[in-house]
Amino acid sequence: MARYNLSLITGDGIGPELTASAKKILEAISDNSSTKFSITEVEAGDAALAKHGKALPDLTVDIIKKSDACLKGPVGESAADVIIVLRRMFDLYANVRPAKSYPNIPALSDKVDMVTVRENTEDLYLGLEFNVDPNTVVGLRVTSERASRRIAEYAFKTAAIRDGKRKVVAVHKANVMRKGDGLFAATCRDVAKKYPEIQYSEMYVDAASMNLIRNPEDFDVIVTTNLFGDILSDEAAQVVGGLGMGPAANIGESFALFEPVHGAAFDIAGKNVANPSSILLSSKMMLEWIADKYSDKKASEEGKRIEDAIVRLLGQNKKTKDIGGSLTTTEFTDLVARAMY
Ligand code: ATP
Repeated sequence: MARYNLSLITGDGIGPELTASAKKILEAISDNSSTKFSITEVEAGDAALAKHGKALPDLTVDIIKKSDACLKGPVGESAADVIIVLRRMFDLYANVRPAKSYPNIPALSDKVDMVTVRENTEDLYLGLEFNVDPNTVVGLRVTSERASRRIAEYAFKTAAIRDGKRKVVAVHKANVMRKGDGLFAATCRDVAKKYPEIQYSEMYVDAASMNLIRNPEDFDVIVTTNLFGDILSDEAAQVVGGLGMGPAANIGESFALFEPVHGAAFDIAGKNVANPSSILLSSKMMLEWIADKYSDKKASEEGKRIEDAIVRLLGQNKKTKDIGGSLTTTEFTDLVARAMY
């Protein structure tokens, strides 16, 4: 029997509804398998800011530090003060966002199975913006060989182990940002030499955004810089049916945090209509990461049950409103729990 301590950021908007769904599914795993979880809910985001004067309270950070992994609901306006700080604090350098076709979802293509591996620590997200005069702002876009190399390594390893097309495409704009993206592209090219079994190519970001609409099924692993990855992964999520199905992982050397691709979606908050698949598929990614880190194959088998249950339900057209169904968040969650065991 293995027991894992999980920290769970409940978040804002639809965050509490989604994290309640994830908690229910993780508890179902605890009840029905030898993989057990102790879950500690923590506060972060707009509600935490209003209550404690800090979007990321110290107590939250302490509990996350003591946990084996963190699952996070979306946060609202204070997102940058939560997720960007956590990514930096734990050096979560790889943002991994799969986009996959699932049955009976209105989408551009039903044959997509790809993942965006986005560099998570540099680029414009360092927030280095300065006024050079009151009407002019300069923002620094940082690119290092070290960060480019480790994200490229992560992307090639991902392509090597996943059941995909064994392709990596480095997406950049080195024809314009010759130095920064030139360095990123040259580093990816160098890492590619170590993986002759993986087909390597490069694409400018404008072409990539077009090809994601035109030939989404051609993609396997995209490796790219922070801002481009943010945009392309949202696009990829929409290509396969929308943000409600989009999971994400923030991976570091020794810690990882899992969260839906989407934001707090205040327009549908509190209505019990949000699609919990994004956080449930994020939970599946968390179990895969735990399985790898703690050499616990059982954990990844339990994670696979989550995805299999979602696929089975979608196959029977049992789905939430955002993807053309009528089930509520809680109804869909209960059906997933029942389909798992
Ligand atoms: P952010 O700027 O933080 O990304 P946002 O409110 O602009 O947040 P999102 O919250 O990411 O945008 O989502 C955009 C829209 O997609 C939402 O307004 C909502 O209608 C829909 N949406 C997002 N997530 C879900 C979900 N899990 N289930 C159903 N609909 C969703």
